[in-house]
Amino acid sequence: MIENKPLFGKGNLNVDYAQYFIGNSYLKFLTSQADVAVNSVTFEPGARNDWHVHNDGFQILLVTDGEGWYQEAGKAPQELKKGAVVSIASGVKHWHGATRDSWFTHVAIGRGTTTWLESVNDAFYNEL
Ligand code: MN
Repeated sequence: MIENKPLFGKGNLNVDYAQYFIGNSYLKFLTSQADVAVNSVTFEPGARNDWHVHNDGFQILLVTDGEGWYQEAGKAPQELKKGAVVSIASGVKHWHGATRDSWFTHVAIGRGTTTWLESVNDAFYNEL
């Protein structure tokens, strides 16, 4: 468990997006260039974001610490470990977050806007 030392730092409690998450997350802004933003996002054990879609752009996740999940609508969840890379095209419904027992950090590289949808319900998540 890498609770306090994610590769690029943990950042601050992610209060601005808390309404779209279950559990606590932390956000560390790293850089931006043109319309592309690069942030490190750390999820506490059990934390995950709601189902969502990135529009008019993309999102790439680079896993730096811990263990987590990524799932696209209609597909099986994928377990993610340090070194995993996920590339998410515009318009693809998905969610990402920690496993129940591990902190999880990914760098998120993205452009565009996000549409937030329903939460990942506990009954489903707890069976992962
Ligand atoms: Mn996403």
